[in-house]
Amino acid sequence: MFNKENQVKNFLIEWYSVNARILPWRKKNKDKYLNPYFVFVSEYMLQQTTVNTVKNKFKDFIIKWPNIDKLAKATEPQILKFWAGLGYYSRARNLLKSAKIINKNFKNKIPQSYDELITLPGVGDYTAKAILGIGFNKPVIPLDANIERILVRLHAINKPINKVKNKLKDLGSKFKSNKYSSSLIQSFMDYGSEICLPRNPRCDICGINKFCQSYKKKLQLKIPKKLKKKIIKPVKYTRAYVVINEKNEILVRVRPSKGMLASMLEVPNDVWVKNKKLLTTDKEIQKIKKNLKSKGLFEYSFSHFDLETEIFYGSVKKAKLTNSNWIKKSAYFNSRMPTVMKKIVEIAV
Ligand code: SF4
Repeated sequence: MFNKENQVKNFLIEWYSVNARILPWRKKNKDKYLNPYFVFVSEYMLQQTTVNTVKNKFKDFIIKWPNIDKLAKATEPQILKFWAGLGYYSRARNLLKSAKIINKNFKNKIPQSYDELITLPGVGDYTAKAILGIGFNKPVIPLDANIERILVRLHAINKPINKVKNKLKDLGSKFKSNKYSSSLIQSFMDYGSEICLPRNPRCDICGINKFCQSYKKKLQLKIPKKLKKKIIKPVKYTRAYVVINEKNEILVRVRPSKGMLASMLEVPNDVWVKNKKLLTTDKEIQKIKKNLKSKGLFEYSFSHFDLETEIFYGSVKKAKLTNSNWIKKSAYFNSRMPTVMKKIVEIAV
């Protein structure tokens, strides 16, 4: 059947087969299946803790308690001592209680039904579905922050995520996979942490941008909509041009000696304006604009305002721009460029 969801699913599964993050709980057994116990433990550890913090701790945990049977025999002080550094100690207590219940009532086998999983201490709707989907390849979609973000962006839902939870459940259910659920769920998660990033999503290299309504409407920096901004900063707009010549040099210039980022290096960019419609193309760029292609939007936060920049990139012959300044591409990072300009170059090249 041809539909948008199927195409997105196929792309993500394919992408994941090449780009999956290597994480210790993803270690497969000889039959190429994930170990549900590893997934079970990791889901407790990952509640409110980042993947990077959990990674090493997880390995040590598995060495100490390699299966439910061993874990069920541990004592609470042992687990709490181990948990130091992860915080939120109630998770450790709940994990131990669950292991004891599984040991007693489920013959050391992690339950494979939602109704049984949800009765375990510390397991809510998300965790139950994550264990079922990732650990047992069941056709469910656990809505974590990455998946929610991708969904609201794909559909250009310009409302705070908390206000559209039910809608997201419906939209998410269209992506369920009977065959490849585990890979699909993890692909969404990895895609959200590598490509569809919370800030500055990498839309120009995104393989599903043709299905993305936010990208189409240039709303990807505005979605997901924040619930409440403590300080609403004004937004300024510009376009920046990263131009490379045949000697692998980048076109640069020196900023005015007064004002913001005085005397620092920059790539050419249009005068920063408060109203996007008032943008006018920089003089130096006008004659080469046709050589440049948009690489998408980038947002940078200064203390008093946010700057939204559309980045353009392309190459020209050095001779085309006489009297211009260039620096070696390899040297821009250690040059007098401010961070905002370095980031713009980094995204473009
Ligand atoms: S186009 Fe951009 S916003 Fe849309 S899914 Fe891809 S990375 Fe995310």
